[in-house]
Amino acid sequence: MATTPANAKILISGASIAGPALAYWLRRHGFTPTVVERAPALRDGGYAVDFRGDVHLTVLRRMGILAAIERERTHMGDMSYVNAAGKKIATIPAGMFSGDIEILRGDLARILYDATKDHAEYLFDDSITAMTEDDDGVQVTFERGAPRRFDLVVGADGLHSNVRALAFGPEHDYVEHLGLYTAIFTMDNHLGLDHTGRMYGLPGKVAALYSARHNTEAKVMFHFGSPPLTYDRSDVAQQKKIVARMFDGIGWETPRLLDAMWDAPDFYFDSVSQVHLDIWSRGRVALLGDAAYCPSPLSGMGTGLAMVGAYVLAGELAAAGADHSAGFAGYQQAMRHYVAGCQKAGQGVAKWMVPDNRLMTWFVNQNYRVMPYIPWKGLMVRSIRKTASAITLKPYDHDLSVA
Ligand SMILES: Cc1cc2nc3c(=O)[nH]c(=O)nc-3n(C[C@H](O)[C@H](O)[C@H](O)COP(=O)(O)OP(=O)(O)OC[C@H]3O[C@@H](n4cnc5c(N)ncnc54)[C@H](O)[C@@H]3O)c2cc1C
Repeated sequence: MATTPANAKILISGASIAGPALAYWLRRHGFTPTVVERAPALRDGGYAVDFRGDVHLTVLRRMGILAAIERERTHMGDMSYVNAAGKKIATIPAGMFSGDIEILRGDLARILYDATKDHAEYLFDDSITAMTEDDDGVQVTFERGAPRRFDLVVGADGLHSNVRALAFGPEHDYVEHLGLYTAIFTMDNHLGLDHTGRMYGLPGKVAALYSARHNTEAKVMFHFGSPPLTYDRSDVAQQKKIVARMFDGIGWETPRLLDAMWDAPDFYFDSVSQVHLDIWSRGRVALLGDAAYCPSPLSGMGTGLAMVGAYVLAGELAAAGADHSAGFAGYQQAMRHYVAGCQKAGQGVAKWMVPDNRLMTWFVNQNYRVMPYIPWKGLMVRSIRKTASAITLKPYDHDLSVA
């Protein structure tokens, strides 16, 4: 049984993937985590996220959530590229997109929350407004709750991290827009898709529909190329209007998908971006997951990276004892090359996912057509798995207090 570690009271901002995963590991090392989430409740929604290779699976196994994830996995099959009439023109093999295990982001968030809610304090519908650090800790003020004192603070609050803005400075210093926007939401599975999906593309735009939750619903995905847009991130109606304007009159099923969008409660819209910081900690504050090193959705690595990062950050803090600076430094040292590899996997993908001219669109479609037959198809899948496995996990098990 572990003794209570130094720096035991740790505030985590963000209850999506990285935040609850960190709360889980901190708790197992004997820390006392509190998670503050701006949304009024756990957020559902989002696309399917992938785990690939031994490292991801090892972390899930050590957390004891692999079986729960297996139960909810999407079992996605091949995807088809279609023309405006809905006729299949190419098939993309399942392994290209789905990793070794694929699960909806909302389902994963729920599993992580269920695994931690009885052992960590969750504060929904609140956000940090200021952090004042001294030699012994951080005084934190909130939008709603009373001020409190913590030993350390971790920002696991995503691409537009509030903690990063407060402790490191404005977003434009750290976020690199990769030229695309993405929108995702749920609708009924009106095409009767059976563990499969359809994609339709024109230069600069891709619309996709795929079945989810054992075919009981479908996810709609819109990607479009654009330089950075100015819009209010809290104004969902405005974001829906942007998408409607972009996809107006492009054919295929899009009128029906856009109709469904207006009522979708889980609409998600964001830029496809990466986050780059030289150092992920400052004093008693550290960053984790997308807040620190978002590799972009196009890498297929964001969720696995956040989960591995949570495991390493908690383990390094536990190993460092009272010296949180050494813990943060160990975290950075252990993750640096791994993060760089995962971020590299997300670069240059935009022009393949959403080609911006007719020639490139034709070229990409031809590639998808021949993909099932090309001998190096397996090589591409293996290379992604190799990137996802390019870190050696320390056991960090000297003081695990909970089995
Ligand atoms: C609802 C939702 C849907 C998503 N859908 C997709 C998708 O379809 N495609 C994709 O590529 N990625 C999506 N993502 C991002 C994806 O989950 C991450 O890229 C990845 O899993 C890493 O997770 P993260 O926990 O670091 O960041 P995120 O998953 O982005 O989580 C950040 C969390 O912090 C919370 N937060 C933000 N600001 C504050 C604040 N001021 N105070 C407290 N909490 C705050 C957010 O509400 C969120 O719960 C989605 C995220 C969310 C929240």
